Amino acid sequence: MVGVNADRLIEMLQPLGVTMKPRPIRLCGACYQESPCHRIEWQFKDVMVCDRHQLRLLTKCTNCETPFPIPADWVRGQCPHCFLPFATMAKRQKRC
Ligand SMILES: [Zn+2]
Ligand SMILES: [Zn+2]
Repeated sequence: MVGVNADRLIEMLQPLGVTMKPRPIRLCGACYQESPCHRIEWQFKDVMVCDRHQLRLLTKCTNCETPFPIPADWVRGQCPHCFLPFATMAKRQKRC
């Protein structure tokens, strides 16, 4: 059993060249409030809801609609365009 760490998984999820469509990066702002890091579960195909909070995952900033950058670029945990913190976006997530 070879362990694969989360960083490696995130690397594998990133688009390689132009042959793969970039996937929208998803985010649960409520999770991000509790622990400021990307959860790999959000990127699974068909997962559109956070299983912890029963909130719809976001794929873009709730303020300016800029798609989220790749998690490797989440240095400040905020929208790179309008600087809205990811944690604040939880207020705009819809309950399921
Ligand atoms: Zn959540
Ligand atoms: Zn924004």
